[in-house]
Amino acid sequence: MKATLTAKLKLHHTREQQAALDAVTLAYRDALNDTSHQAFEMNKTSNAAKIQKEVYTTLRERFGLGAQMACSVPRKVAATYKTLWTRVKQAAAQRAVNPKARRYKGLDTAPKFVSRTLSYQYGRDYSFKTGQQVSIATLAGRLMLPYEGYRKHLDWIADGARIGAAQLWYDTRKKQYFLLVPLEIELPDPEPVTHQQVVGVDVGMRYFAVASNLSGKAFFKSGKETLRHAERFQKARKSLQQKGTRSAVRRLVALSGRERRFIADVNSSLASVILKTYPHALIGVEELTGVRDRTERRSRPNSSEQTRKANRRRAKWSYAELLGFLSYKAPLLGSTVVKVDAHYTSQTCPKYGHCSRDNRPRKGLMFVCERCGYQLHADLVGARNVGLRALLVRQDWMSTGRLSCAPDVSDAETKAARLSRYAELRWSPDTSPRL
Ligand SMILES: [Zn+2]
Repeated sequence: MKATLTAKLKLHHTREQQAALDAVTLAYRDALNDTSHQAFEMNKTSNAAKIQKEVYTTLRERFGLGAQMACSVPRKVAATYKTLWTRVKQAAAQRAVNPKARRYKGLDTAPKFVSRTLSYQYGRDYSFKTGQQVSIATLAGRLMLPYEGYRKHLDWIADGARIGAAQLWYDTRKKQYFLLVPLEIELPDPEPVTHQQVVGVDVGMRYFAVASNLSGKAFFKSGKETLRHAERFQKARKSLQQKGTRSAVRRLVALSGRERRFIADVNSSLASVILKTYPHALIGVEELTGVRDRTERRSRPNSSEQTRKANRRRAKWSYAELLGFLSYKAPLLGSTVVKVDAHYTSQTCPKYGHCSRDNRPRKGLMFVCERCGYQLHADLVGARNVGLRALLVRQDWMSTGRLSCAPDVSDAETKAARLSRYAELRWSPDTSPRL
């Protein structure tokens, strides 16, 4: 099976070389913003070829970009417009149903490119040379720069992994350039026998993530610290928004970057910890569509409506990111992530399968089965139920030789069949599979 990952290469540059990198990244960013305005004038088009025809000469002459970059700028701008148009249409569809829904304003003005990130085509704008050096294009010709990175990544590059378009990225905090290089590598196909355990992961606001394997080994990651951090960002953002001055807007941009990185760091390391806690695992995670109501229930009752809404949005988005990191890192560590649907995972008794809203008295921390009296931490119940569903996936995988990753939620009939199978699931350490 193929897996893609991004190698982050730290570039060693002298002061003069850094000046050359500054010049090309700034020119590229200016070119993006200029092109964005052009596309805006052209009825906000997302047609890359059309944009390129209009701006190519300008990009070459006024911004001094090479031929490849003069093509990648219109492509990037077009892709941005396409994404924004999708959002405009989604918001319009929302408004058709709910007139109170907000109109999407992201295309009211030309989108602005803030970060200093430049795309390089492999083999054209950049290439790897012997002696662990990379040759990259700048406005003033090519630069040969030594680089360093993770040993494993460097080995893959040397061993001929398929290399894609890289991003030259300036880390403003470290005052350092990095080259982010996507690698496509060949891994042995996953098989049921190579997975030594089945794990369920549950997410929420109170606990950011709770995991359990079927032998009962549990993992908790509290959400408190993250949430407090997020709230601090939110307060700072609110006061800056109210100010509305130019410098406030600038600080707002920096702040949202910091917040995004903070959440990404939390998610990335959380994914690694989960994968290391359960090596060689088949890991069940919940289908995203089920997340919304869960986080809604778990938010604190005294927070304002606005805060709760923002938290919900952040949780949903952040959860998607956590899943992304998990799925991305899992194959590299010999694990596999599968999606199972989230229906009733927090209301179902893992012992005898009784499913009821009242299994959560006062929606509290404890799960208490109203039928059999089974008691357990509510989030752990969720994780165990997800794990049991992942076990079903594993059994199907064993018997059919095929791994079905995402349940088809749209099909009502198969969904009903699946839910009736779930009703048969029972948790007990004695019935855990011996692998
Ligand atoms: Zn029960």
